[in-house]
Amino acid sequence: MAVRVLFGCEHCDARPDADTQRTLQGHQSGQRCGAYFDAQPGGWLIWTAGGALGRRRYACPEHRDDLTSDLHKHYRSLHPGVLDRGPYPELWPDGFSALDDRELTQLLSQVRNPPRPSSPMA
Ligand SMILES: [Zn+2]
Repeated sequence: MAVRVLFGCEHCDARPDADTQRTLQGHQSGQRCGAYFDAQPGGWLIWTAGGALGRRRYACPEHRDDLTSDLHKHYRSLHPGVLDRGPYPELWPDGFSALDDRELTQLLSQVRNPPRPSSPMA
């Protein structure tokens, strides 16, 4: 039976897209404590926490700043890594390296500039 771990944003009920979900699922352990990572392609933020730093946390692209300021408040005296402003190491789901450069560029441009169906071509 397949077990599917559900990830959610700390600050809203957003769920990652399928590819970002694969990234989060593939990197649930093995990283150093108290570090931020960028979970791509969705641009989610992971806080690895560990020990006195509490549990792992995730933030959707809209709430990355809320998560970091939250962590600053609670953990800045415990661990200087909390104050890391990035850029953070990027994590990608397994298999993404199979994309060629053109596909990857296209995918990234969609993530950063989602197409607006209603805007007319100028
Ligand atoms: Zn959110």
